[in-house]
Amino acid sequence: MIFNIQRFSIHDGPGIRTVVFFKGCGLRCRWCSNPESWNMYQELAVNDLRCTRCGRCEKVCPVNAITIDQSGRKLDRGLCNRCLECADVCPTGALAVTGQWMTVDDVMHEVAADALFYQNSGGGVTLSGGDPLQQPEFAVDLLKACKERGFHTAIETSGYAEWSILESLLEYTDLVLYDIKHMDAAQHRDGTGKTNQVILENARKAAAKRRLWVRLPLIPGYNDSEENLRATAMFAKEIGAAKVSILPYHTWGVPKFAKLGRRFAMEGVPIPTNEHVEDCRKVVEAAGLVTGVGR
Ligand code: SF4
Ligand code: SF4
Repeated sequence: MIFNIQRFSIHDGPGIRTVVFFKGCGLRCRWCSNPESWNMYQELAVNDLRCTRCGRCEKVCPVNAITIDQSGRKLDRGLCNRCLECADVCPTGALAVTGQWMTVDDVMHEVAADALFYQNSGGGVTLSGGDPLQQPEFAVDLLKACKERGFHTAIETSGYAEWSILESLLEYTDLVLYDIKHMDAAQHRDGTGKTNQVILENARKAAAKRRLWVRLPLIPGYNDSEENLRATAMFAKEIGAAKVSILPYHTWGVPKFAKLGRRFAMEGVPIPTNEHVEDCRKVVEAAGLVTGVGR
């Protein structure tokens, strides 16, 4: 269940990469830029601006979840059974489906198109999401197929899974891009819905087996205190992380929350200034770590 394949990425590991986005995630980060990844099933994404009120969706809906009146087309997600028939008949894309079932061959067909770019740039393929750990058997098969083609492989993960699951992917993974959202367990639960115990344990074990970059999404007022930055840097150093990437908070994902009928809980949180990002990077660097911003 894949929701996007992005070519020519330079932010998800070394060189030019193709990023395969898996649906399904164990966390619910308030600042998430890919909320369409959360659930491991197809969902309706609604774009009111594209609706012409043609009425086709209302006619085919078997549970009367759609109504159209003077104020526009309304969707009652409480009634919707996700049959997706409405999206099939919508002529404008006002109702779209997030996610599609793909085989390993389907994905490899797309990924292999850029083999020359990987070779010339030192790039490869990155499995992201969501979290590839939520579809481990498919992830292992895909990573294996990439290695058979000689592609460099990376996984981008929150690390929230049983160790045996993460371990099964590592066998075919060259680089682990590992998110650490907060070092404090209670704060971690507050921001993501889950505590960080298993995440930190898995990070330690993964770094002992594979090259690992820590990725820190920098969220103003949440994890950008000097205390948390220092704690993250010390942890990264202790486990032998090769790099810490600071990923400044942005608001690109905000419109997606509305399209999915979800509330965005970070309203009013400002994007960090370049100066603040640089100050934070320096705190991490001071621990003797290689750092990067945005990658
Ligand atoms: S997905 Fe199916 S049940 Fe949901 S609104 Fe569309 S047609 Fe109705
Ligand atoms: S089918 Fe699409 S364009 Fe037509 S009313 Fe439904 S959402 Fe709007």
